[in-house]
Amino acid sequence: MAQSPSVIHLDRAEKAVSLLLSTDQNQQRYRPKTIRPCNEVRQNYLPTFPSISYGPHNYLLLANVPGIHLSPLEKLRRVHGANTDDAISLMKSYRYSGGHEGFHLSEQHITDLAERFQIGESIITFNAERIRSLSASLFALHEEFRVTVLKRPNVALAEPTLNSKQMAILLEFYLQIDVDTFYMKVCSFREPDFWSNMNNSEGLFSEYKGPEARYMVEPCGSLFCTCCHPPNSWRKTRPWPVVDFASSSSHQFVNGYTTYLNCSATCMTSNIVYAMTCPCGHYDYIESTKETLSEALACTYLMQHFLSLAQYERLVQKKEIAGQMRLYRHSARCPVALRVFLDCNPAHWCFVPMTWHDSATESIRVLAQRSNERDPEIANIVRMGAINDRTVARQLDSVPIPPAPYAFSYRQRQQQREFFERLATLPLGRSPYSTIDLYQAKIIAVLPNDCSLLLRYLIETLFIIHCETKLNMICPLGGDPERRYGPPFEPIWCDNLHNGIQNATAEDH
Ligand SMILES: [Zn+2]
Ligand SMILES: [Zn+2]
Repeated sequence: MAQSPSVIHLDRAEKAVSLLLSTDQNQQRYRPKTIRPCNEVRQNYLPTFPSISYGPHNYLLLANVPGIHLSPLEKLRRVHGANTDDAISLMKSYRYSGGHEGFHLSEQHITDLAERFQIGESIITFNAERIRSLSASLFALHEEFRVTVLKRPNVALAEPTLNSKQMAILLEFYLQIDVDTFYMKVCSFREPDFWSNMNNSEGLFSEYKGPEARYMVEPCGSLFCTCCHPPNSWRKTRPWPVVDFASSSSHQFVNGYTTYLNCSATCMTSNIVYAMTCPCGHYDYIESTKETLSEALACTYLMQHFLSLAQYERLVQKKEIAGQMRLYRHSARCPVALRVFLDCNPAHWCFVPMTWHDSATESIRVLAQRSNERDPEIANIVRMGAINDRTVARQLDSVPIPPAPYAFSYRQRQQQREFFERLATLPLGRSPYSTIDLYQAKIIAVLPNDCSLLLRYLIETLFIIHCETKLNMICPLGGDPERRYGPPFEPIWCDNLHNGIQNATAEDH
């Protein structure tokens, strides 16, 4: 490499500076807002200053923290961290891309990145190696997910590799997905605009300026766009926008991590990473697509099929794909999301159990009114000899068992039977529910137009790691989302759902 830096021995410089500083000042180093003892492992996925040792001497790059919030030692590291003995010797041993070798940068790309970021090349090569070594385990997680859950062939991941140009884009994201915020001061792809011209003089590190909202998602205006015109939203009793264009320039996740949109976009922009947040405010999810947000949301309407079925079939036990997806399982058992679904589909209320007390009170009242009539339950048992009724009986039998302090009332069991009888008479292709959006969606990052599937996976997974989204099936922190975050819903899911709802017997259609 044609770099001849004056090597500064940072270790010695640090010792000298630390002697000059009081203990109190040393303790004022930057404290990440989203790192706690339970998620410290996230730091293993963050960019750091070059170091041969692995452990407490890996200092985070902290690209999005203004210098004024850093300690004197941290500021010193920004100035000299690329020129330590470790940094220089590691850079000398870096293998540049050439021939068919993947996951390595060319000398030209390293020089370009160092110039744009205004940092030493050793920081680029060190972190290129860091993300390269992480990629193998992240691909393995995607591979396992595709094979065991999605049951899809693993063609794309069979021989994963990134060329130098793709590595340069990955680095651009990796260095700027910081500990608390994702903020791209430097974004080389898509159209250069006012902001990128304005910030040409600014490198990766800034002394004063913190992240700021620069870009927005604009509505496309199409009458057929599900972002601009979500179906059935007028039926929600508690309206909320599916895509809130007004707040689209940044997004805060449930764990406090904040992302700032890196390019202007519309709901028709393709190649994006987007977040979905349940209206309950406790669960979120990250996904990427080579298509548009509008098209991605249209796919989530398929989830409604699961949501509808989940009310009356024990799908999770059947190991179907939708039955394993935490995103769907949460909506099917989240009181807030369910309420939205039930507003739009009131015939499903009979599958929401009542408390034992309410159920018993109601059943006694109904049975007392019918004491002189022939028992309709017995009448139905007699009728179940016919083939249709056997189907209904099987469906009734597969209704999920309510959690302990809840039960179905006599009226609800009757309504369930009528529901299944109607279901059998529905014309082919007609669903027993109306679709409605159950999540709030937001574009959090725009990717290059020619972003490959592998590159998209890696960037998406970095966001999943740092935003700690509880509904993703891929969970690098701990390997299994169920073990790390528990089930995607509370066990007593019907708690208070019936409050304020009396005699909900309205029909869907
Ligand atoms: Zn639109
Ligand atoms: Zn929820």
